[in-house]
Amino acid sequence: MNMNGIDFDTYFKHYPDENGYFGRYGGVYVSDELKTAMREISDAYFTIAQSRQFIAELRRIRKEFQGRPTPVSHLERLSNKLGNVQLYVKREDLNHTGAHKLNHCMGEVLLAKYMGKKKVIAETGAGQHGVAMATAAAYFGMECDIYMGTEDIKKQAPNVARMKILGANVVEVTEGQATLKEAVDAAFAAYARDYKDCIYCIGSVVGPHPFPMMVRDFQHVVGEEAREQFVEMTGHLPDAIVACVGGGSNSAGFFAGFLNDPVDIYGIEPLGRGTNLGDHAASLQYGTEGVMHGFNSIMLKDENGDPAPVYSVASGLDYPSSGPEHAFLRDIGRVKYDVVGDEDTIDAFFTLSRQEGIIPAIESAHAVAYGIKLAQRMGKGSVLINLSGRGDKDMDYIIQKYGIR
Ligand SMILES: *Cc1c(COP(=O)(O)O)cnc(C)c1O
Repeated sequence: MNMNGIDFDTYFKHYPDENGYFGRYGGVYVSDELKTAMREISDAYFTIAQSRQFIAELRRIRKEFQGRPTPVSHLERLSNKLGNVQLYVKREDLNHTGAHKLNHCMGEVLLAKYMGKKKVIAETGAGQHGVAMATAAAYFGMECDIYMGTEDIKKQAPNVARMKILGANVVEVTEGQATLKEAVDAAFAAYARDYKDCIYCIGSVVGPHPFPMMVRDFQHVVGEEAREQFVEMTGHLPDAIVACVGGGSNSAGFFAGFLNDPVDIYGIEPLGRGTNLGDHAASLQYGTEGVMHGFNSIMLKDENGDPAPVYSVASGLDYPSSGPEHAFLRDIGRVKYDVVGDEDTIDAFFTLSRQEGIIPAIESAHAVAYGIKLAQRMGKGSVLINLSGRGDKDMDYIIQKYGIR
């Protein structure tokens, strides 16, 4: 398939290019020392990750430890209620640890093992990436340092406990606002000091090259499985697919399975409380081009050009930018990006729970809410939604803030 001069038959050969660019977005905007470290990871990834042994080991881990393939489920009752459009979900909520994040964490830590590293470093905000990293590190017997701001440590006690039970070292970051941004800075600094023995594992398709590519590649399994399962179930491709976009990893992997197909693709960002800066995290919708955290993409900036404060009811989506590949796919028109706010998300959270017996993560509920709107708009056809995670982590918060609807 062709679109605006891009040939999707050969897309993965050319995007990103050898310098890590998807069109104008991506790259490696870090200190010279970290550039060397990124080059080392990149070289290792291109050789090790192509080896039969690595591929076979990753495949075995996905099957025997993670529980892949995760199924595709037909949302029969919800579809009937809405009319003639058939809705389906790819069940990443059933992946071990309850979300898609483990797909790239297992890949990154397996790569670290093949590179002979002893320790993995990561940052975490809400704690989901930290828990997935701690799980992968435990599996491979690696040391694991998770950088987390004091404020987040206070708010996310269950995830802090999980990381500690799994044997990770939670490093408290007290600087500045003591949240995700400072945790990222502290983790980068620690990595620059110690990159010979450790590897920094980024939690999404963001950061300097090769991470946006590597994380997408490790998540590609979601899209590949979903496409095959959907065709087997229905005998045809879906008319549209939908996923939520924070940094953009679950969507990047899911979309990758369908880029070369005649399928409409929708990436959904969080509109939070509304369109004012600070009330949402819809960077692709309202942001401008800029560099942060080592890469060039579309981002939300404050008046000084620094990353703006962002908000969403889903803490996994409140990041002031999105991966460079998303900015590129937006510009060429292959993926349509749209927004869903808190209120519609909470409605979808209860609708999916009540109609189908599946409690979604609040992040994933954004995609479900959009899938429901799309079904009403389309009138006929089929929509496949990526259910990136389960909602166990969100239940206390939702009951406390919204009550039972
Ligand atoms: C972290 C998280 C997200 C957002 O991250 P992406 O990189 O955009 O996929 C979405 N859903 C769940 C369940 C998450 O834990």
